[in-house]
Amino acid sequence: MLCKLISKKNTVGNIYDFTIEAPEIAKTAKAGQFLHILCGGSSYLRRPISICDVVGKSVRFVFEIRGKGTEELAKRETGEYIDLLGPLGNGFDTSVAENSDGAIILLGGGIGIYPLYKLAKELGGKATAILGFRNAAAVTHTYEFQQSCRDLFVATDDGSAGYHGFATDVLKNIAASNNIAALYVCGPTPMMKIAAEIAAEKEIPAQVSMEQRMGCGIGACVTCTCNVGGSNVRVCKDGPVFWAKDVNWNE
Ligand SMILES: Cc1cc2nc3c(=O)[nH]c(=O)nc-3n(C[C@H](O)[C@H](O)[C@H](O)COP(=O)(O)OP(=O)(O)OC[C@H]3O[C@@H](n4cnc5c(N)ncnc54)[C@H](O)[C@@H]3O)c2cc1C
Repeated sequence: MLCKLISKKNTVGNIYDFTIEAPEIAKTAKAGQFLHILCGGSSYLRRPISICDVVGKSVRFVFEIRGKGTEELAKRETGEYIDLLGPLGNGFDTSVAENSDGAIILLGGGIGIYPLYKLAKELGGKATAILGFRNAAAVTHTYEFQQSCRDLFVATDDGSAGYHGFATDVLKNIAASNNIAALYVCGPTPMMKIAAEIAAEKEIPAQVSMEQRMGCGIGACVTCTCNVGGSNVRVCKDGPVFWAKDVNWNE
């Protein structure tokens, strides 16, 4: 569908926060689902970007300029129409979190924090967010997590803001002395792998959102295949969210 860009913000560095008018998507979108976006210019393959928030009839997504596609997307101006497919993918399963008294942890790294914002809102402010960034200059959207979570921990690789170290270190500390009912993770693969190890050791139900490179986004081209539960699955159609214990991290 073609959706009007109604708000565009450059938050920090190369991070862009877009809001589009998309009543049909807003009606059904779940946290963890994504949009497959035709970025513009000479970039003709769509790029997957997570749904970060839904307010009324508008849908928000936040992205970092990584290459040609996202660079073209960042040039789009308010009032223009963006060609996109969505909402795609399965989204997070919140049933474990809703039916337990333990802590609910959202662990996000870099661009992986964005699908977790909608999840924080869906969980009604009960979650604790641990957000990891490269450095203080890359820290963004923390105020919104603060407003929608019980607690917020920020970690930076170089210690220039928050905890000095990886977000997974913070998770390890929390897991050592708390009962965790559910863990939701999105970020770089090494971070998700460590989180999956902590979850396995502590027997925490954990879901990860895989950020595989994609082609069609609707399950036809199998570009985004990965090994989950011993079989090949399509991240776009069968995921992007999977139970961490089922993912073959050594693939
Ligand atoms: C389900 C899903 C949800 C996503 N949500 C977001 C989001 O909310 N915000 C956001 O900024 N990004 C998100 N991404 C990543 C985003 O799709 C890629 O950054 C984007 O496609 C890069 O396109 P490009 O043309 O700018 O860069 P390219 O020129 O295609 O690539 C530039 C660099 O980015 C790396 N890259 C490309 N695609 C991916 C990918 N899928 N995962 C990891 N690295 C990649 C490449 O290896 C390369 O180093 C998501 C990806 C998936 C699969």
